[in-house]
Amino acid sequence: MKVTEHLQNATSTLFSFEILPPVKGKSIQSIYEGIDPLMEFNPPFINVTYHREEYVFKERGNGLLEKITIRKRPGTVGICSAIMNKYKVDTVPHIICGGFSKEDTENALMDLNFLGIDNVLLLRGDAVKTEAHFRPHTDGHAHASDLIQQVVQLNHGQYLDEEMESPTPTDFCIGVAGYPEKHVEAPNLATDLKYLKQKVDLGAQYIITQMFFDNKKFCDFVTACREAGITVPIIPGLKPLTTCNQLTVLPRFFNIDLPEDLVNAVEACKTPQDVKQVGIEWTIQQCKELMNFGVPCLHFYTMSKSEATAAVARAIF
Ligand code: FAD
Repeated sequence: MKVTEHLQNATSTLFSFEILPPVKGKSIQSIYEGIDPLMEFNPPFINVTYHREEYVFKERGNGLLEKITIRKRPGTVGICSAIMNKYKVDTVPHIICGGFSKEDTENALMDLNFLGIDNVLLLRGDAVKTEAHFRPHTDGHAHASDLIQQVVQLNHGQYLDEEMESPTPTDFCIGVAGYPEKHVEAPNLATDLKYLKQKVDLGAQYIITQMFFDNKKFCDFVTACREAGITVPIIPGLKPLTTCNQLTVLPRFFNIDLPEDLVNAVEACKTPQDVKQVGIEWTIQQCKELMNFGVPCLHFYTMSKSEATAAVARAIF
């Protein structure tokens, strides 16, 4: 079933979450161990992130370095299919522009279609770690909006090979990312919203936001979206803060602010367990307020660690 159908059929706020594929070499069991404790909260869908290639330099013994391309967390499509088989819940693979030609994208979408996966979250992806800016594949897409157009065309039976006879249309439900605190590269929030609206006008059916810790930023964002004419569901992305280290890591990686009260509460903690508890309680409070605000679903970034998300869900659902 499609995410939009789950949202339409819901009689109360839904619970969903995102996981990462395991580091290459680890078994799928590590994925199941992260999912098992969360199944009692009845997620209608689970998102699985996509991780593009990275470049590493290996010493070759003669003083020379060899540049090697690796993907540390492959397996998004296989994991989606395995989760659907094991738990009978829908999955939402993330599909990115980075590293993909249009042909690669079409073939990946074929795999999803044959596996009965009819949800996708379409994203641009970030620059590879060794590069300062995002560079699209020479025959790929520069923005999520271009990727949306390809998927919408496929939903209309338009494949890259225009001479194909009687092509079968796909039927993907399309989600996209939104940024309550604006995307890092956007010159301002208004410009970012203009492009978000473009994504929706092109065919995106719902938005999942970047994580945020200040509900006001989310509520202001929703208001601004509605004023800009964006009418699709907006799902808040949440992450319980679990370590002191995240006070600096989360702002750096996700370009978000952490509220002063949260930072002060974490800094006053005496043990790592205290920090976890502060993070959990903060997220519980966020969830209660967001439910009052009328969000359709609470979406958790588990980073494949379920303990804190389970503690929040236990208090909420
Ligand atoms: P876009 O919508 O293309 O926007 C990128 C920037 O370009 C923005 O500043 C925007 O304002 C601007 N822009 C948009 N369209 C246009 C246009 N047509 N012309 C000019 N400027 C434009 N990354 C991964 O690698 N794998 C994942 O699985 C993944 N999952 C994510 C899930 C969520 C819910 C979120 C919020 C992010 C996720 N990301 C993931 C990170 C994401 O790939 C990065 O934030 C990336 O930098 C932007 O992706 P986007 O789809 O928002 O890009």
